[in-house]
Amino acid sequence: MVHELVIIGSGPAGYTAAIYAARAEMKPIVLAGALDAGGALMNTTEVENFPGFTDGIMGPELMATMQAQAERFGAEILFEDVVDVQLEGEVKTATLDDGTVYRAKALILATGSAYRELGIEDEKRLSGRGVSWCATCDGFFFKDKEIVVVGGGDSAVEEATFLTRFGKKVTLVHRRDVLRASKIMVRRAENDPKLTIAWNSEIVAINGADQVESVTLRDTVTGEERELPTSAVFEAIGHEPRSTLFQGKLDLDEEGYISVQGRSTRTSVEGVFACGDVVDHTYRQAITAAGSGCQAALDAERWLALQA
Ligand code: FAD
Repeated sequence: MVHELVIIGSGPAGYTAAIYAARAEMKPIVLAGALDAGGALMNTTEVENFPGFTDGIMGPELMATMQAQAERFGAEILFEDVVDVQLEGEVKTATLDDGTVYRAKALILATGSAYRELGIEDEKRLSGRGVSWCATCDGFFFKDKEIVVVGGGDSAVEEATFLTRFGKKVTLVHRRDVLRASKIMVRRAENDPKLTIAWNSEIVAINGADQVESVTLRDTVTGEERELPTSAVFEAIGHEPRSTLFQGKLDLDEEGYISVQGRSTRTSVEGVFACGDVVDHTYRQAITAAGSGCQAALDAERWLALQA
């Protein structure tokens, strides 16, 4: 059977695409992923900036609501990982772990991006409880608190500077004695009275029972360890778009994000559309991912109409 549309991914981008496509009678199949179904917001607690929820909403609840909304209009959702895709020609395919092949006239790719992690114990346990990868999302929770930011590039310095609006004190933890960030960003950081840089330091432990209470820092030169009290650890050590599946099959940019044409969600391959964080270098928010999921469904619908 050849479906009209298969969507890969079930974060805000994939589910929004599914809601729009299902309401347009395209009977979309959503290949949602297995362990990561629901996307990045499954790893957080309160989401306060998604419009429509005056008192905020828990990340997993928001995703369950989006899933139910897509199902209400007839989207079929399968909690399976896609292990291979074939994008060329009139019929595209997505193959699951068990060898099942889904065929479709159009595909929407919404596989998101993965934030790099420090890979230390308790980081996952305290995610959403002080450990965060998004200052825009979570900075507001740490008004007048001590905050730690990890990283040394432009985004780390930008996050640290931004967080001084909220925190009593922000400490930027960096492994070396010089930042990789651009000169102008470094100057801004150095002139910020609320910002301190812990040079030659790495985080070896994040401590706290239910919430982050402190980090253990190790001096990368002397090996000496010390404890730094903090309520939050913002990790700004990079992210990787989940685009490995598509490598060599459509155009990716130099960082591996899927390239799209202009303001559309059209990729370099006819009938294949991409949305959300797997495309987005800049905003990486649930609402922007949802917005581009809507665009992808509309682009796919219009493209399919032209093929008829
Ligand atoms: P994702 O949500 O990452 O979803 C990707 C989807 O692709 C997943 O369903 C995964 O299962 C699926 N997938 C990947 N590979 C495959 C495959 N091979 N086969 C099948 N499926 C696959 N943003 C806000 O606006 N507000 C917040 O408060 C906020 N808090 C955050 C807190 C945390 C801890 C994190 C990590 C992010 C937060 N964000 C927040 C950012 C927001 O979560 C992302 O911008 C958004 O989820 C991106 O949506 P997406 O649909 O593009 O990708």
